[in-house]
Amino acid sequence: MLGLMQDFPLLVHRVLDHAARWHGDTEIVSRAVEGPIHRTNYRELNARSRALADAVQKRLGVKPGTIIATMAWNTWRHMEIWYGVMGVGAIVHTLNPRLFADQLAYIVNHAEDQWIFTDLTFVPLFEKLQDRLPKVRGFVVMTDRAHMPETTLRNPVCYEELIAEGDAGFEWPDFDENTACGMCYTSGTTGNPKGVLYSHRSNVLHGLMCALGDAMAISGRDRIMPVVPMFHANAWSIAFSGPLSGASMVMPGAKLDGASIYEMLNEGKVTITAAVPTVWLMLLHYLEQNPHLKLPHLDRVVIGGSACPEAIMKAFVEHYGSDVIHAWGMTEMSPIGTLGVKSAKAAELPSAEWWKVKLKQGRPPFMVDMKITDDVGKSLPHDGRTFGRLKVKGPSVARSYFKGEGNDAFDAQGWFDTGDVATIDEYGYMQITDRAKDVIKSGGEWISSIELENIAIGCSGVQEAAAIGLPHPKWDERPLLVVVRKPGSNVSREDVLAHLKGRIANWWMPDDVVFVEEIPHTATGKISKLALREQFGDYRFTS
Ligand code: AMP
Repeated sequence: MLGLMQDFPLLVHRVLDHAARWHGDTEIVSRAVEGPIHRTNYRELNARSRALADAVQKRLGVKPGTIIATMAWNTWRHMEIWYGVMGVGAIVHTLNPRLFADQLAYIVNHAEDQWIFTDLTFVPLFEKLQDRLPKVRGFVVMTDRAHMPETTLRNPVCYEELIAEGDAGFEWPDFDENTACGMCYTSGTTGNPKGVLYSHRSNVLHGLMCALGDAMAISGRDRIMPVVPMFHANAWSIAFSGPLSGASMVMPGAKLDGASIYEMLNEGKVTITAAVPTVWLMLLHYLEQNPHLKLPHLDRVVIGGSACPEAIMKAFVEHYGSDVIHAWGMTEMSPIGTLGVKSAKAAELPSAEWWKVKLKQGRPPFMVDMKITDDVGKSLPHDGRTFGRLKVKGPSVARSYFKGEGNDAFDAQGWFDTGDVATIDEYGYMQITDRAKDVIKSGGEWISSIELENIAIGCSGVQEAAAIGLPHPKWDERPLLVVVRKPGSNVSREDVLAHLKGRIANWWMPDDVVFVEEIPHTATGKISKLALREQFGDYRFTS
């Protein structure tokens, strides 16, 4: 027997309709790519998204299922494109400008993107790349007529002129909630990048999940700043969770250095923000240099994408009075999988014990299920010590990659193998030990490169640290610790080793510590272990 409730498909444009109708005056503050601070609200954003929806159909020939790419910073215009394009049943494919030209060309051609919406910043990039993108019909430059550059781009369209051609009273169509609406490629550290295709339903459910009290706890009183870009991992759902909660949005635009982020946090009176650890390292460094500056409005900071070092967490919590929520996830999970918030049981722990748990990646909210298994798929205990392959399930977890490539990560029971190695403790907190391919295998045992890095970064004078396993004649692999010193510091190999001693098992001690000017990062801000292993390919341990 079917229930007698209304059929109300979970479509993302309904999120924006809600925000416009019930939080119409709520502000969206952005740093425009052209420079100035721009202010709009949900009512205007909804009207402009509807006008865009109308115009892309009439002028660009967009139809349900058409894939439209964006290469854009977090601004109000990027939000209009998400809602306007998704709202007609077409798909927004976000491109990461930090990818190499070859990868970008591969991704755009593989996805068969029809049009590319680009911020002014990336016009020169596409002028060079466009000959390798034969299926792209043209480019919409996200600016007004006054800022439209002279360009050799094929079929250049001015964004503000395009919107002006559309009808702000356009009526959204209704369609199946399982229709695709967003696309994001994984960074492809092994093999070609793979496409993840989100649906309206998965995005709405995931947006709701992220707003939950034991997730990011987003309310209509919040002012939320996603520093995490809309071109990486669905912006951690914030472009959906914010509007569905009626929260004010603060969009940082193209400037992501410490001073600019600080300015937006204060200018926008931001209460909650989210980004990868490297962004927070830059902000904290800026604040350290300007000790009179405070973060009076900031209540909580969501940190994920790579493991959050204790030093960052403590600086926010103990020095600036903002809580930190450590989160883990991946593009294939829309992306959130766990959040490090207090469960009722964990709330009973003494402070020092809770800190140990808080550093872990956290617990799954409703709609994510997870388990750890050995290599043959047997489930492993939740004892906080046993490492296993982390597998996940849920309505916002991919069930296949676009065009079916790389599908060996999905098993017949519907579990997706994340490629991460993790423990789960008695309180249900998951801790990432490593990417399966980065774990250091020494004498048949595993050493967590992430843990070495997190502890090393707590040593004064250390700005950034990366641990890699290098071949060793006796132990198979041994850890090498690569360190970037803080400006002006002369921290030595012996200082770093003395800091690690007693904080890790003796056999985990790196066989050597080397200093470099810079550690290579991937397009999504993670330490590139692949590049580091290549860089130190000729390195040999002396004993
Ligand atoms: P991406 O799809 O680019 O977001 O990358 C996902 C991967 O980033 C995960 O599979 C993890 O290896 C890593 N990752 C994400 N969040 C964390 C975290 N909080 N701690 C450790 N690793 C993380």
